[in-house]
Amino acid sequence: MKPPPGFGADSARSTTARVEQMAYVINDRCTQCGECLDVCPIGSISVGDPKYVIDDTCCDFAECVVVCPVEAIIPLDAMIEEADATRAAASLVADEGRGSGVA
Ligand code: SF4
Ligand code: SF4
Repeated sequence: MKPPPGFGADSARSTTARVEQMAYVINDRCTQCGECLDVCPIGSISVGDPKYVIDDTCCDFAECVVVCPVEAIIPLDAMIEEADATRAAASLVADEGRGSGVA
């Protein structure tokens, strides 16, 4: 039986399409300086709290990346890699903590 729209392979494809479309994200280094707000030609950036936000209309012009003084705007791929590295480091620390308690 074919799954309804929004489920199964259809859902996976649409998720992939959204991820590919959202080319850049803003990380925690954002100081809310506002430099990036007016340079995006399609208005993908908005004021957020505690940091500015790029919505899923972003399509990779990268004008915003150039003006950010603290390099807070990074490709989504890099954000995912940073998160994976942080999780791996946290797991390593937890493992070492458990190991030191055994002795
Ligand atoms: S990468 Fe381009 S489309 Fe995306 S927020 Fe920056 S300027 Fe706008
Ligand atoms: S230019 Fe950089 S630091 Fe300034 S608001 Fe945009 S993302 Fe944040």
